[in-house]
Amino acid sequence: MQVLELENISKSYGKIRALNGVSLTVPQGSVYGILGPNGSGKTTLLSIILDVLSADSGRYSWFGKPGSKEQRKQIGSLLETPNFYHYLSAVNNLKITRSISGRGDEDDIGNVLRSVNLYERRNSRFSSYSLGMKQRLAIAGALLGNPGVLVLDEPTNGLDPVGIAEIRDLIRKLNAQGHTIILASHLLDEVEKVCTHVTILKTGNIVTSGRVDDVLAHDDIVEIMCPEM
Ligand code: ATP
Repeated sequence: MQVLELENISKSYGKIRALNGVSLTVPQGSVYGILGPNGSGKTTLLSIILDVLSADSGRYSWFGKPGSKEQRKQIGSLLETPNFYHYLSAVNNLKITRSISGRGDEDDIGNVLRSVNLYERRNSRFSSYSLGMKQRLAIAGALLGNPGVLVLDEPTNGLDPVGIAEIRDLIRKLNAQGHTIILASHLLDEVEKVCTHVTILKTGNIVTSGRVDDVLAHDDIVEIMCPEM
């Protein structure tokens, strides 16, 4: 089954064409990477599929049908860092997230904290968390309500190597548990390590799409990802 289908999506900001006729299909059970350098249109694409922005033209559908409220509950997302309260514990922060988002129940809070390996530290103040733990808490917030699909925008940005490894392990674990994951990244090695499928974007155009093993085997990948070389 296809989780998400985009057909010919275009979006401009004034004279800047951020996306130019983008079409792709995300299969259920995949970790689908949207890979591209800064400014290639990754965040614009994620914002459109999450209804934060509207496309100028083209269509997309989740689960093969036009979006409904019930379907939306199947999509958890992390587009930008949430505003957690520094002096509150992880549990209390997630209670606030739950009340604002309307996703999940009281039991869910413990479940998502276990999922991201923060249960033992659930009563610690957010301010005592490392950057990696803060990011895992943000992912926990996106997991409230146990959505089948998780959309993450550059989830390892700004983290140290340990934090990066923990997030990548978490993505693999969540995928193994049945979540389809759509992930924007500018890091080739990230896509290589965690993704099953990839679309490579360059200045709003798709360069290529497919299974990671096939796409990354192409010699021109270096030129695409390192245009300054
Ligand atoms: P990054 O990794 O830097 O976030 P990206 O691949 O996510 O980049 P986008 O943020 O989608 O790319 O940007 C695509 C293009 O659209 C870039 O040229 C960017 O400067 C431009 N752009 C994005 N948002 C806006 C905006 N609100 N107003 C004007 N131009 C924008």
